[in-house]
Amino acid sequence: MSNHFDVIAIGAGSGGLSVAERAASYGARCAVIEVGELGGTCVNVGCVPKKVMWYGASLSHAMQDAQDYGFDVSVGDLNWEKLVMKRDNFIGGINDWYFDYLAGQNVELIEGYARFVDNTTLEVDGEQYTADHIVVATGGAPIIPQDIPGAELGITSDGFFNDLDEEQPAKVVVVGGGYIALELAMMMRGFGSDVSVLHQGWPVLVGFDEMLQTGLRAEMEASGIHINDAGIISKLEKQADGKVLLTFQDGDTIEDIDALIWAIGRKPNTDNIGLENTDIEIADNGMIKVDELEQTSVPGIYAIGDIIGKAPLTPVAIAAGRRLADRLYGGKPERKMSYENIATVMFTHPPIGTVGLSEEAARERYGAAVKVYSTSFVPMYHQLTRHKVKTAMKLVVVGEEEKIVGCHVIGLGADEMLQGFAVAIRMGATKQDFDDTIAIHPVSAEELVTMK
Ligand SMILES: Cc1cc2nc3c(=O)[nH]c(=O)nc-3n(C[C@H](O)[C@H](O)[C@H](O)COP(=O)(O)OP(=O)(O)OC[C@H]3O[C@@H](n4cnc5c(N)ncnc54)[C@H](O)[C@@H]3O)c2cc1C
Repeated sequence: MSNHFDVIAIGAGSGGLSVAERAASYGARCAVIEVGELGGTCVNVGCVPKKVMWYGASLSHAMQDAQDYGFDVSVGDLNWEKLVMKRDNFIGGINDWYFDYLAGQNVELIEGYARFVDNTTLEVDGEQYTADHIVVATGGAPIIPQDIPGAELGITSDGFFNDLDEEQPAKVVVVGGGYIALELAMMMRGFGSDVSVLHQGWPVLVGFDEMLQTGLRAEMEASGIHINDAGIISKLEKQADGKVLLTFQDGDTIEDIDALIWAIGRKPNTDNIGLENTDIEIADNGMIKVDELEQTSVPGIYAIGDIIGKAPLTPVAIAAGRRLADRLYGGKPERKMSYENIATVMFTHPPIGTVGLSEEAARERYGAAVKVYSTSFVPMYHQLTRHKVKTAMKLVVVGEEEKIVGCHVIGLGADEMLQGFAVAIRMGATKQDFDDTIAIHPVSAEELVTMK
């Protein structure tokens, strides 16, 4: 078989798989090059294993709540090894499924690490490949700080999912204030670990609506997570018993750490793929520059997903990949990617669902034309439980017609609530449209269509 393809995607993650499978469905000859497991970050060390663990931690909360509902249950010890094994088996099944699926879709899998030789040629293990269209979908990797002595004693989210398979870490320190940091912190607290979150300066979840930031912090504190927003880490050392000792610049310490997780951001996988042999331009932060059609500075080379740094989410990478294939081979030149109004969920406890502009961003863009509707309440489920986890909701509207530009929810069920509202907001819904929608009762979501 020739080594020339219509489309080659570098990376078989959310973006690369999507562009290849969609282009193949139009009859294009496609290949994906992958150095790791099929499915990329999301399937192997991201969304999927994380959500399994979130379900597990949610069950721990539910067992406590069950006592408050009158059940004679006790929250026994977690068999961590069993949970991790079942999670990994589930993911292994997805990896296997992808092998068969790709073959069924006539997408060729080239296993190995791809590097550009020039603007049209890739090399994998000494073999060269060319394509009419090359799509860079190499994603990103978590960062470990370079300037902190002993930083390598910590792990990242990759290590959390790949290496912590035998014993639940009893004492966990999470460094970071983004959604990955807080999801891992709240999950481990749900499992009963002693958890500290270190984040220089607040708020956490920078860029999200203030209601979500303060609501989540309150729940982190209520759950017993230790929050340190001032300490600057000076060094990490290994104790005699193998645990980690963290020392702050002011001399304070945290001892006996079983797992220190760096969740301080991700860097694009661009540094070792031979971009210097091409004319592909990258931004200062290492992300690949693309135009509104995902084309790089080299005609015929595209970049999608986390590597372009716009909205690092799985459905975004998938949508960009499918639209690119639709444009290239589906005769649909109008199928462009919009990066507006992308709904997203944080799998914290409680979860957060959010779409559109935060109140702060809306005021910056629209000034006095912005109006806000908000509510906060204890949902019915928690009326009977000791721990009253609040729900808070906010609608951000603009102008006389009160067009909804932001919708934010923290609380039970927020994760499953937002998708439908995101459709309405994308279609240009106004507050009146929400008011005219008959509520479903009794659910928390009805508050979104009855807000005053
Ligand atoms: C802990 C965590 C939780 C997350 N949770 C969510 C969530 O709940 N919801 C959500 O929407 N998103 C979530 N994300 C983000 C999501 O995983 C990413 O946005 C998504 O995977 C990006 O897809 P991608 O195709 O751009 O890259 P990736 O999925 O990272 O795929 C890139 C692939 O390229 C391969 N690769 C890299 N370089 C080469 C090379 N030179 N040659 C061959 N192969 C190469 C890599 O091995 C990898 O498989 C999470 C991420 C993390 C880390």
